[in-house]
Amino acid sequence: MSAMIFHPSLYDRRQYHTSYWAAQNPAPHLEALQADIQTDVAIIGGGYTGLSCALHLSRDHGLETTVLEAGDIGWGASGRNAGFNTLPACKLAAAEVFRRWPEAEARAFFEAQREGQALVYELAQDEGFELGACGQGIFQVAHSRGALAELDEEGRWLRQAGIPCQTLSREAFAEIGHDGPDQFGALHMTEGGGIDPMQLTLGLATAARRHGARLYARSPMQQWRKDGAWHVLQTPQGQVRARQVVVATNGYRDGEEPAGLRHRALPAISNILVTAPLSEAQWQAIGLNNLSPMSDTRMLVTYYRRLPDNRLLLGARSDTWGDPQRDARMQAALHALIARKFPDAGPLAVDYFWRGLVSVTRKLVPSWGRLDDDPSVLFTLGCFGSGVNTMPWMGRTLARAIAGQPLSAREQCAVFRNLPGRLPSRAWQQRLGLQLAYLHYGLQDRLA
Ligand SMILES: Cc1cc2nc3c(=O)[nH]c(=O)nc-3n(C[C@H](O)[C@H](O)[C@H](O)COP(=O)(O)OP(=O)(O)OC[C@H]3O[C@@H](n4cnc5c(N)ncnc54)[C@H](O)[C@@H]3O)c2cc1C
Repeated sequence: MSAMIFHPSLYDRRQYHTSYWAAQNPAPHLEALQADIQTDVAIIGGGYTGLSCALHLSRDHGLETTVLEAGDIGWGASGRNAGFNTLPACKLAAAEVFRRWPEAEARAFFEAQREGQALVYELAQDEGFELGACGQGIFQVAHSRGALAELDEEGRWLRQAGIPCQTLSREAFAEIGHDGPDQFGALHMTEGGGIDPMQLTLGLATAARRHGARLYARSPMQQWRKDGAWHVLQTPQGQVRARQVVVATNGYRDGEEPAGLRHRALPAISNILVTAPLSEAQWQAIGLNNLSPMSDTRMLVTYYRRLPDNRLLLGARSDTWGDPQRDARMQAALHALIARKFPDAGPLAVDYFWRGLVSVTRKLVPSWGRLDDDPSVLFTLGCFGSGVNTMPWMGRTLARAIAGQPLSAREQCAVFRNLPGRLPSRAWQQRLGLQLAYLHYGLQDRLA
């Protein structure tokens, strides 16, 4: 059993999340598993990874697929993220990716991210669902002069990897993005943009079901045993026998998981606040007219976007406990971040505040693979707060691997392969590790 390293309320599936996206979209109502069934592939987790894998397995490969979700569909990060369908999908600078892996592998890694970004729009178009797409690309906003120089260097590497982007001076970004004491210019990656993450989740779920996948909500996999070549996954009211299993739980690894996957990924809390709709005068005071997602260059990154209905969304990590008593403190911290970026914004009413878990690993890039000691178990690990473009793509990659399709250079790229190194096993050690990392990052941010 993996430990819940944060307060139990962060893992409580009895209630759906209180996100802005949940309020904008119909609640997903699916039945729980109430029988013993057999399937080709069982998928644990009903987020982008699991739903995309189910969609591709049933639609493209004709395999019987069953998704088990412990909460309701989209209860995890996929229904509650910030909706940045943008790059980069890792915590490493592009130069570092090129340093750690051979050039062809590094290139394949960035091409895969671009392909994943495009896949989101393709899936919506092919399967006929809305995405609430807005903005053009992402602005990475320098929080200091030194950070702008680093962004310029990052841009050079990204362009070498085939990613369209350009560096903007402080003045140029003030024209098309925003001004203020916390911007020193920006890197504009011109592809992708903002989406409604819940629409993507629900669209994938509806499409997967239409193509024959079986999806069960409120059906946590509680026990996992082998019976010969079969995997037997036990839920409270029924069991699934499957030839192959996909572990698609990402940051929510509070249930049973195979020994090979234990302590490979660490959850980290991300917090989001969405204001009430702002008046034109308030937007003028803030000075942000662009609907493209933005994030700053701090290691403890702040991400923000103006939503199409004139609200401001802003999110950031920190807090290593997650208890509800800290909600007010976290909201105050997010308000302070707004004031740092937009000092003339004045007090802003908040309509929504919520939290969620992202998954981080020692490798600092996402991974997928099969377990060495049981290749009939496939997994993904480590989305690093950038799973919108990566996880639907990884779900498709897993489906193609399961179906025995020849994989492209991007899909089998070495950057994604190999399990990340093990982390300390105890919850307090993991929390302490996060606390030390945040202290270190905070110091780095102040010096940069
Ligand atoms: C606050 C926040 C903001 C983010 N913003 C962005 C962003 O703007 N752009 C971006 O690219 N990425 C963002 N991310 C990251 C992105 O949301 C994730 O990478 C992505 O959604 C992960 O998808 P997934 O399907 O792998 O996992 P999830 O969507 O987290 O789904 C995993 C599911 O597994 C289920 N589960 C766990 N254990 C069991 C079990 N035993 N039985 C059954 N089910 C189980 C969980 O209930 C959960 O629903 C953000 C994440 C958070 C939390």
